[in-house]
Amino acid sequence: MRYSAFEIARQALSGHKGWPRAWGDATPKPRYDAIVVGAGGHGLATAYYLGKNHGVRNVAILEKGWLGGGNTGRNTTIIRSNYLQDPSAAIYEKSRSLYETLSQELNYNVMFSPRGVMMLAQTEHEVRGYLRTAQANALQGVQTEFIPPARVKELCPIIETRGPRYPVLGALWQARGGTARHDAVAWGYARKCAEMGMDVIQQCEVTAVRSRNGKVTGVTTTKGEIDCAKLAIVVAGHSGVLADMAGFRLPIESVALQALVSEPIKPCMDVVVMANTVHGYMSQSDKGEMVIGGGADGYNNYSQRGSFLHIEETVRALVETFPMISRLKMLRQWGGIVDMTGDRSPIISKTPLGNCFINCGWGTGGFKAIPGSGWATAEMVANGEPGPLAAEFGLERFREGRFIDESVAAGVAH
Ligand SMILES: Cc1cc2nc3c(=O)[nH]c(=O)nc-3n(C[C@H](O)[C@H](O)[C@H](O)COP(=O)(O)OP(=O)(O)OC[C@H]3O[C@@H](n4cnc5c(N)ncnc54)[C@H](O)[C@@H]3O)c2cc1C
Repeated sequence: MRYSAFEIARQALSGHKGWPRAWGDATPKPRYDAIVVGAGGHGLATAYYLGKNHGVRNVAILEKGWLGGGNTGRNTTIIRSNYLQDPSAAIYEKSRSLYETLSQELNYNVMFSPRGVMMLAQTEHEVRGYLRTAQANALQGVQTEFIPPARVKELCPIIETRGPRYPVLGALWQARGGTARHDAVAWGYARKCAEMGMDVIQQCEVTAVRSRNGKVTGVTTTKGEIDCAKLAIVVAGHSGVLADMAGFRLPIESVALQALVSEPIKPCMDVVVMANTVHGYMSQSDKGEMVIGGGADGYNNYSQRGSFLHIEETVRALVETFPMISRLKMLRQWGGIVDMTGDRSPIISKTPLGNCFINCGWGTGGFKAIPGSGWATAEMVANGEPGPLAAEFGLERFREGRFIDESVAAGVAH
């Protein structure tokens, strides 16, 4: 059924009792052409583009918990593509541009809001870094500009630009960056996958990867054995666990990244602001809550929880930048397990196990990449080789020392 204003009016006549389920409760079939492990945004987008772009529709998406219950439903939803290196700019910009029309494409309102993202420069070092990124972006066809403090204040009047420790010296501004509704992105893709006849199977944990003669043959799950011709592992913070099951190791660390929201207040900020030097970022949700992102734990762990240390550290940083939030009450805090690579760039790659592919390493910044990443991963799974968007993100780059260093672009959790 197509969602539309007309359909809402029609359903109102029967008390909204006639809406079909957005996706069914599928029981696993014995075999699929492709299995995607992980029903986060990246897994669901991979399945969607497998069906849409490559006609592979005998697909199951297996999720150990609930759909979007990993980092996809826990992030602070910032979307931007102002990365430094060419391969990063290409995939993040592809993703950002897909976000522009994603609601229409999925017939599901993902609430993409291109309200503009600014990354504050609060040291001379950052000014030089962002000027360099703005110039690189110009060559890459990504629209960004370096703006002076007066323009920062104009775009976001609640910023204290003359801060005592770190005055604002300018900002890298991407006017078409913004936010989207994270759950809706997962739900929209899931609904389309189900519509194409794919099985979205929740509460189905993969516990082993089976193989013969160096090629994957299927997985063992809490709902039984399922065979497949191809396997895509797309489980973010649990990638190391799945890779271990498939018999290879990954150069990633899993750590908890934290965020918090305040009580809702009247609209006071209509852009996204990231302050890397003091280490915090903030935007205002449609409900009025200030959505605040902080740092990652300094040790590896799998606990999807917040901690007091981070509240204090993050709020201290933001009060310096936005003094008006000092009297706000904080409502909720949480954490998600992010998968960090050494060069802060993702892995979209074939693996040592034949017909088994992996998408991970998006670390603190993969929400913005969901459509582009799904597009590129689907292309790789369908053709058996990475296409142009994914070519540079292979696992072999760590062996060859061919890093895609984005530690500046990814300097603050985002
Ligand atoms: C606090 C926080 C703030 C963030 N802010 C931003 C931001 O502002 N902008 C941005 O771009 N990015 C942000 N990110 C990063 C972003 O959320 C992630 O990079 C992205 O959501 C990863 O998506 P995913 O689909 O790969 O992973 P996930 O959404 O985590 O999905 C992986 C799924 O795999 C499932 N799974 C794991 N093991 C198994 C198994 N054995 N069997 C079956 N299923 C399994 C999990 O349950 C999970 O649902 C943030 C992250 C956090 C935690």
